[in-house]
Amino acid sequence: MTDTNRLVIGGDLVEAASGETFESIDPSTGQTLATVAKAGKEDVRRTTEVARAAFDEGPWPRMKGRKRAAALLAVADGIKKEATELAETEARDSGGTIRKANNADIGMAISTFRVYAEMAGREEDEEPLPRSPISYNYLRREPMGVCAAITPWNFPLQMAAWKIAPAIAAGNTVILKPASYTPLSSLMVGRICLEAGIPEGVVNVLSGPGAAAGEELVVSPLVDKVAFTGSTEVGRRIMQLASGTVKKVTLELGGKSPSIVTDAADLDYAVDGALWGVFFHQGQVCSAGTRLFVQRSVFDDFVPALVKRAQDLRVGPALNAESDLGPVVSQSQLETVERYVEIGRSEGAEVAVGGERAVVEGHEGGYYYRPTILTGVDNSMKVAQEEIFGPVLAVIPFEDDDEVVSLANDSIYGLAGAVWSTDVPRAVSIAERLRTGTVWINDYHMINPRYPFGGYKQSGIGREHGKLGFDEYREAKHIHIDLAGGRDKHPWWGSLFGR
Ligand code: NAP
Repeated sequence: MTDTNRLVIGGDLVEAASGETFESIDPSTGQTLATVAKAGKEDVRRTTEVARAAFDEGPWPRMKGRKRAAALLAVADGIKKEATELAETEARDSGGTIRKANNADIGMAISTFRVYAEMAGREEDEEPLPRSPISYNYLRREPMGVCAAITPWNFPLQMAAWKIAPAIAAGNTVILKPASYTPLSSLMVGRICLEAGIPEGVVNVLSGPGAAAGEELVVSPLVDKVAFTGSTEVGRRIMQLASGTVKKVTLELGGKSPSIVTDAADLDYAVDGALWGVFFHQGQVCSAGTRLFVQRSVFDDFVPALVKRAQDLRVGPALNAESDLGPVVSQSQLETVERYVEIGRSEGAEVAVGGERAVVEGHEGGYYYRPTILTGVDNSMKVAQEEIFGPVLAVIPFEDDDEVVSLANDSIYGLAGAVWSTDVPRAVSIAERLRTGTVWINDYHMINPRYPFGGYKQSGIGREHGKLGFDEYREAKHIHIDLAGGRDKHPWWGSLFGR
C-alpha cells in the first residue's frame, strides 16, 4: 500500500487498526484502481481523541487568524504543486472527465483554500453590539471544536476543500470521511495539509464505510459539529443520530433543480446552457438542472435543437480529453439510472434521445450511459420528482410565468435553478419567486467559494461558502460588561432580588 492510500490520523499516515482494506474501482474500466485502508470504530475512536486534544490543547485554535491564513495558503500551494497527479487521480477514481478535473476541480479546491485564508486573516473575530447605557456588549466568534465532515463521491476533491478550508480557517480541527467510491484525492489532501505545516491532529482523513465509520463520528461525544454533503435520505439519518448529543449540523443534500427557458431566451445559447446544466459530470451534480421547463411558444423549436446537440455529446473514458461525459460512478449507479428511465417509460414519458448504456470501445467494463432526454413528462411523475443523479433530463412545457414558478416550486427539493431570458427584469422576477438557495440567470453551475451555496426545503440546512459558510463553523458568544457601577446603581436585578 502506498502512503496515498493510508488514513491520516494526527501527524501520521497509518493503516487501519484492524489492518482491513477495501478496493477503489476505476469506473471508466470497472477494474480495481487502488487498495485503501478501511477505517473502523477503533480508528474513529483514536482520531476523535487526537482531534479533540489538538483542539483543546493544541496551538491551532489559539493561533492568530493571520498565521492560520498563511498555513491555508501553503495548502493551496501544495494542491497546485501536485495538480497533475491529483487531477488524474480524481478523474480515475470518480469517473469525472480529466477536463473537469483540470479545469474545475483543481482550480476550485485551490481557490477555496485561498478565499478562506483571506477570511481567516481579515474577518473580525469580535464586533461591538448596539450601545446600552448600563453595559458594553460585544459578539465574539469562536471555533466550534472538532468537526466531522462527511462527503459524497461526485466531487470528492472539491468537497474535501469545501469542508476542510472553512473549518480550519475558523480554528477548528476536522475529521474528513470521504465516500467509499472515491477516497483517493481526499487522502492526498490530508497528506498535503500535513506537509503544508498544518499542526498534527488538525486535519484527519478516514476512508471507511458510512454505516460504520460515518455513524461512529456522528454519535461521538468528542465531536461538536457534523458537516454533511450527500443524499437527503442519509442526511435525515445523520440529523437523527446527531440529535443524541445535540450536535450542530450543516446538511448539503439532494436536488431536482428547475432550468427555465422562457420565450425571451436566446435559444441557441439556452440550448447549450441547458445541456451544460444537466449533463455536466454525467448529471451527477447536486444542483443539476434536471427539470427543464420550456415555454410552449418556443417548445417545438427548442426541443429538437436540444436533442440534436445531446446526440453529439461524446461519452468516453475519463482520461480521454475528448470525452464530454465520462462513466457514472459505479455499477449500482448505472443500474439506478436504467431503472429510472424504465420508470419514466412506464409513466408515459418518451425517450427523445439516449435511454440506454453507451458502449465505449476498449472500455467495455466501464459504467457508461448515454445522455438521455425524456419528453412527454408531467411534473408529478417520479422522473420529475426524484433525484436520479445520472444523465437524464425531464423536459416539461409551460404556458406563463405564474405556471412555471408554481411547477418549479412543486418539489421537496430547493437547491438551485436557472432562468434563461434576455428580458432580465422578467428573469429576476421569476428568480425571486423560486424557493431555492441559488438561481443563475443565463448561466448554470457557477459556484464560487465567495458566494453562499445551500438548499431550501429538503435540500439542506445551512450554507457553504462565503461569510455565511464561515459562520457555520463558528460559535457566536455574547459578552456583557457591566458599566452601571455597583449594586446600588444597578437598575435591573437590584430592584427584584435580595436587600
Ligand atoms: P450518500 O450515499 O448520502 O453518501 C454520502 C456520504 O455519507 C458518504 O461518505 C457515505 O459513506 C456517508 N454515509 C452513508 N451512510 C451513512 C450513515 N448512515 N452515517 C454517516 N455517513 C454515512 O451520497 P452519495 O451517493 O455519496 O452522493 C450523492 C448525493 O449527494 C446526491 O443526493 C447529491 O445530490 C448529494 N450532493 C449534494 C451536494 C450539495 O451541495 N447539496 C453536493 C454534492 C452531492 P459511504 O460512501 O461509505 O457509503
